[in-house]
Amino acid sequence: MGKKVAVSACLAGKNCRYNGEPKGNPEVMEKLEKEGCEIVFFCPEDACFGTPREAMDLTVTPEGVKALTKYSKADRTEPIVEYAEKFFEDHPDIDLFVGKARSPSCGVRTGKLYDEEGNLISEKEAGIMAAEAKARGIEAVDDENY
Ligand code: SF4
Repeated sequence: MGKKVAVSACLAGKNCRYNGEPKGNPEVMEKLEKEGCEIVFFCPEDACFGTPREAMDLTVTPEGVKALTKYSKADRTEPIVEYAEKFFEDHPDIDLFVGKARSPSCGVRTGKLYDEEGNLISEKEAGIMAAEAKARGIEAVDDENY
């Protein structure tokens, strides 16, 4: 049996991105399949906020890094943390996390971080769900680096 791998659902071409447009990564899906991996999909944003939805950004606030919607500045952090906690509790034997690069939820080392004025501070951050995976000691990688 291959590894048990948690994978961002949009990488399989599912229409769960904020704008509902598919943007899969067939090469990664093929590779995982070839390696005989058991795949468990997740999509915190679709589960918590539905699709389509307002895009969000990782933002430094006085309360720490938060996922704020791009225009209305609603704080989306907590539902994503709760989704992630439940996901990893339901699947305690995940060997690897493959997240969609640059996503504020799923990006592993590619998330963009802004200050409250909208200035880009970093492009190497972990998204909210990826951070939860890393905190649990799960090996995690962006799809484009798999
Ligand atoms: S990057 Fe993550 S939150 Fe965004 S659509 Fe893909 S699985 Fe869902």
